Amino acid sequence: MRTHHCNEIRPAHIGETVTLIGWVNTVRDQGGVIFIDLRDREGITQCVFRSEISPEAAELSHKLRSEDVIQVTGKVEERLKTDDVDTKNDKLETGAIEVAASQLTIVNKSEVLPFQLDKELSNEDLRLKHRYLDLRRPRLTNNLRQRHIITKAARDHLSDEGFIEVETPILSKATPEGARDFLVPSRINPGKFYALPQAPQQYKQMLMVAGVEKYFQVARCFRDEDLRADRQPEFTQIDIEASFVDDNDIIELIEGMLSSMFEEARGVKVPTPFERLTWKDAMNRFGSDKPERRIGMEMVDLTEELKDCEFRVFSGTVASGGVVKAINAKGFAGISVGQVDKLTKLAQEAGAKGLAYIQARDTDRSTWRSPFVKRMTDEEVEALRTKLNIEPGDLILFAADKWEPACDVLGRIRLEVADYQNLLEGNDDLDFLWVTEFPLLAYDEEEGRHVAVHHPFTRPLKEDEEKLRNGELDGLRAQAYDVVLNGYELGGGSIRIHEADLQSSMFKALGISDEEANTEFAHILDAFKFGAPPHGGIALGLDRVVMLACKEDSIREVIAFPKNNKGAEIMTSSPGTATSTALRDLRIKSTYVEKPKTEEAAE
Ligand code: ASP
Repeated sequence: MRTHHCNEIRPAHIGETVTLIGWVNTVRDQGGVIFIDLRDREGITQCVFRSEISPEAAELSHKLRSEDVIQVTGKVEERLKTDDVDTKNDKLETGAIEVAASQLTIVNKSEVLPFQLDKELSNEDLRLKHRYLDLRRPRLTNNLRQRHIITKAARDHLSDEGFIEVETPILSKATPEGARDFLVPSRINPGKFYALPQAPQQYKQMLMVAGVEKYFQVARCFRDEDLRADRQPEFTQIDIEASFVDDNDIIELIEGMLSSMFEEARGVKVPTPFERLTWKDAMNRFGSDKPERRIGMEMVDLTEELKDCEFRVFSGTVASGGVVKAINAKGFAGISVGQVDKLTKLAQEAGAKGLAYIQARDTDRSTWRSPFVKRMTDEEVEALRTKLNIEPGDLILFAADKWEPACDVLGRIRLEVADYQNLLEGNDDLDFLWVTEFPLLAYDEEEGRHVAVHHPFTRPLKEDEEKLRNGELDGLRAQAYDVVLNGYELGGGSIRIHEADLQSSMFKALGISDEEANTEFAHILDAFKFGAPPHGGIALGLDRVVMLACKEDSIREVIAFPKNNKGAEIMTSSPGTATSTALRDLRIKSTYVEKPKTEEAAE
């Protein structure tokens, strides 16, 4: 239907007759002569309809409207350039030429669109309802293509490294990754349910026992969670597992893969190896296990310096085993009252009692605005000044609590302040890093038991292995690693337990009874008895990687048909209701009755 696409014709083609097909992007009527920007997925070519070339085509061109599909044949001409008019368009790659139409076929008319494609639209539900139109916008067309390029780069890299792609079941069994499962009732096994995989974790480990050695999968995963801005109930992971490897092997593999993905997408070289921080260090310095390091503002520990401070919030915390930490938001002493209120609220929501801060207006401490500076000795003030490098105009923010919550609160404050200060505006740097040595277990106060920080198949550090076997559970570290880019966790993984007895110790540590372990995880415990190779792996969130490569703020912009924040895919109205016959076949009795709209509103 075409000889060229709409981003192909250049001055070298002048004089040739070409045929293009695509959508009418814009129509301009200049003194009775119609100019069309014809668009296909590759770009735009200007077509002009002059009656001296073809009266029929020129007449028909007056009927054209946005988004009609048309086919145009004509001669490639140079765009007019005289002394006073230059109709060349430098912004278009085809901007030096136009096609003088000798034939026009209207292939399919379009009705008036529900929204304009060349304007940003804030009503996301409307965009999602007509996603097939939304995706015609060049930005989204480009995102989909980038996604393909990035995924292909990953596949190529892994294939070159000897990995093979293996599919694992979608209708599968619950695997503990920390979220709620989506369940699918089995018609032929009444009362039984499949779970959609939160990740192919156990299957990929079984593939290692099966001798596959190097597995990967571009795997769809499902987690029934409350949705946050960059979460989707179904998402895609590049899932990887390998045998006879240690953490350095996985880390090196992923560095190579990510740098090739970003090189393909952004055309930039990503230097490797990435820096590594232990979890402890990341928390201590940045208050996060996925540190955004480009904003500076490292956290400083003042526990020793403020342990005798007359301000009880500090000294009292230290006396009860806690820490005092602070950050210096350079030049931000002029923070507004509203912003201070917001930060205080944030600190309280994160579990702090309040927010202590100093506005260091000038050099002398008498100019420092803060409710507690007057209760500090000169030595204490000098210690702050030196350790935090306080200069006139700085804002100092504190956290005093037990070590982990203090780091966490101040870490959140740090990110929020950086946002107020616009510290990242125009910053395109890519700061990749690894966070290693995560804790193996965390204590869940509500449940009164330990839970796995990564998942129950993660191996402790060699030096902590004996402790796990002996049930000494405090402070155990995992052979787990996360790869982080600009404050986002791109993925995480671990070296796994491959011995049945160590796996049993882990289940025990998690309060899983032998009986439960033997029913829920029998396959793992059995498989590990038959020569399971040492193995480890990782999974990367593809949606997030593509989002960052495309410089988007939301993963919905890089997914063809995403769900909205109520978990609905609006275009097809999913989820939908089921007929009573379908429910009967599944032996499901529906007790759910939809409330009348008014009642819902009243709530
Ligand atoms: N299954 C893990 C996850 O989805 C990743 C891994 O350990 O390989 O987070």
